[in-house]
Amino acid sequence: MNLSRRAWLASAALPLLGCEPAAPPLSGGFTGTSPERGHLLRSPSSNVVSRTQRTRVLIAGGGVAGLAAARALRQRGIEDFAVLELEDQAGGNSRATQLEGLPCPLGAHYLPVPTDAGHEVQDLLEELGLRRRIAGRWQYDERHLCHSPQERLYLRGQWQDGLLPMQNVPAGTLAQYRRFATRVAQLQRAAPFALPTQRAAFGPVHAALDAQTMAQWLAAEGLDDAHLRWYLDYCCRDDFGAGLTTVSAWAGIHYFASRHGFHAPGDEAAEREGVLTWPEGNGWITQRLAQPLGERLHCARVIHRIATHRHGVTVQALDTASSTLEQWEAQHCIVALPVFVAAHVVADAPGFLRDAAAALRYAPWLVANVHLRAALHDRDGAAPSWDNVVYGSRGLGYVDAGHQSLEQRAHGSPRVLTWYHALGDVPEARNALLHQPWQHWAELLFDELREAHPDLRAKATRIAITRYGHAMAMPVPGLMRSLHKARATTPQAGPLLFAHADWSGYSVFEEAFTRGHLAAQKIG
Ligand SMILES: Cc1cc2nc3c(=O)[nH]c(=O)nc-3n(C[C@H](O)[C@H](O)[C@H](O)COP(=O)(O)OP(=O)(O)OC[C@H]3O[C@@H](n4cnc5c(N)ncnc54)[C@H](O)[C@@H]3O)c2cc1C
Repeated sequence: MNLSRRAWLASAALPLLGCEPAAPPLSGGFTGTSPERGHLLRSPSSNVVSRTQRTRVLIAGGGVAGLAAARALRQRGIEDFAVLELEDQAGGNSRATQLEGLPCPLGAHYLPVPTDAGHEVQDLLEELGLRRRIAGRWQYDERHLCHSPQERLYLRGQWQDGLLPMQNVPAGTLAQYRRFATRVAQLQRAAPFALPTQRAAFGPVHAALDAQTMAQWLAAEGLDDAHLRWYLDYCCRDDFGAGLTTVSAWAGIHYFASRHGFHAPGDEAAEREGVLTWPEGNGWITQRLAQPLGERLHCARVIHRIATHRHGVTVQALDTASSTLEQWEAQHCIVALPVFVAAHVVADAPGFLRDAAAALRYAPWLVANVHLRAALHDRDGAAPSWDNVVYGSRGLGYVDAGHQSLEQRAHGSPRVLTWYHALGDVPEARNALLHQPWQHWAELLFDELREAHPDLRAKATRIAITRYGHAMAMPVPGLMRSLHKARATTPQAGPLLFAHADWSGYSVFEEAFTRGHLAAQKIG
C-alpha cells in the first residue's frame, strides 16, 4: 500500500461480530488525502519567496479538470505550462492506490459511456484506445466495460440482480416505477437535459425543478412508494453526495434524463447503461493524463495566493517538501481548484467567484478500501457483482475492485473491496471526519455489511480510509439558477480562467473534463 505520508495507526482487534470466531487483528489508518495540508491554506508557514519561475500558462490544481486543461494545451501545441497540485499524486477525487499490492480506487471508480453531448470525453476515450469505429459503428473495448454481473442488491435476505428493488415488491411499487419512468420521459421531451450540463439550455422546466427538492417533487407527483424512494435516494447520494430531501428535483431528474432515462421493469427499451471501469477506478484515466506531463507536474504544492496584474498572474505556493514558498509568473492561469478554495486564494476575487462560493454547499465523503485474505461466502441469489448494495442502508455499498481483473476473480484469492459513504445529509459530518478514529468508520462499514456478509470482519486484514471534507458540490435547490451564467460558459476574469466540476453545480468526470478542456481552448 502506498502510505508514504500516512503512518498506520496501531493495529487493533475490533469487537467480535455476529457468530464468527474471535476476529483477527485488523490494521488500519487514514490515507489518500491530507486534511492538514489543505488546512495550511489558512496559515502558510513561510512568507519568504525562495525562488521565482516563469511559464506561459499556470494550471492551479491537478484534478480531472486541471489534467484535461493540460492535455488540451498540448493538443494545441502549447507546451510551456506547469501544473501545481496539493497532493503527492495528480488526479484529485479520481486517484488510485494499492492495498497489499492490489489496485483500488481512492475516489471515483466509473465513467458511464458518454452520450454524443460529451464529445470531448469521447475524443479522450478514442485517444486512450477505449473506443473504436468498427464497420461504421462506435464500439467500446470489452475489457474496459464493466464485466457482468454488474450490480446486485441485498434485499430480504437474498441478493437480487440490479439495484432497483424487484424481489417480492407489491404491484403498487411496480406501478409507481412505471409512472416515474413516464414522467422522466415526458420531462426529457419537454426540456433538454445533457451531460455535460452546459450543452442543454436552462429553461422554465429546469427552473421549476431547480426550485424544489426531489422529495418535494415526488410528493407533489404522488410518488410515495418506499422502494422507489429508497432507490432514488440511493442514486442521488451516489451521484450528488446527498439524498432526496437535500438535492433539487432538477438533479434527481437530470440523473436519468441526461442519460438513457429511467426504465421500469418490463420496459422494452430497458437497457443497462454501459459503464467503463478499472480495478483502480478512474485513477486508470488520470494516471494516463498525468503521465505525459513529466516535470511540468509539481505535486505537494499548496497554492495560497493567485494575484493578477498588468502583465499576467503571480501564483504563490508552499512546497511542502522543503517548506519554502515558490512564486510563479505566468501570462494566464487556469484555476482548476474547488470554488471554495479559489475564492480563498484569488486576491480581489471577482464577484461571480464570491457569489458561486457563497451558493455552493459541499458533501463530505468517506471511502474505505478493505483487504480480504479470501473471497467472502455468499448468500443466496444473484452472484457477486462489481457493485453490491444493501437495501435500506445509509452507505452506498461496495465495489469489488478485482471484478475487472480476471486473475483476481480466481476463486478464494485475496481481494480488495471499496466501500463508499456520502455524508452530505449527515449533520456535523466534516467534524466527525476530522476527529473520529479510523476504527469508528470501520465499525460503520462492518455494521452495514454484517447481515449480507457475516464473514467479512473475520476475513478483513487491513482497512485504508480516505476522508474528503469537501468532496463535491451538492446540487441543492436554487443552485442551478444561481450558477446559471457561470454554468453555461467558462468563467473568466482577465488572465484567469476557471475550470472545476463545481462550476457545473455537481461533480462527475464529464463535467470536470469538459470544463478543463474548454478553458484551455480560450488561452490566446
Ligand atoms: C468519493 C468520490 C467518488 C466519486 N465517484 C465518481 C465516479 O465514480 N464517477 C464520476 O464520474 N465521478 C465521481 N466522483 C466525482 C469526481 O469529483 C469527479 O469525477 C472529478 O474527479 C472532479 O474533478 P475536478 O478536477 O473537478 O475536481 P477535484 O478532484 O476536486 O480536483 C481539484 C484539485 O485541486 C487540488 N487542490 C485543491 N486545493 C489546492 C491548493 N490550495 N493548491 C494546489 N492544489 C489544490 C486538489 O488536490 C485536486 O487535485 C466522485 C467523487 C468522490 C469524492
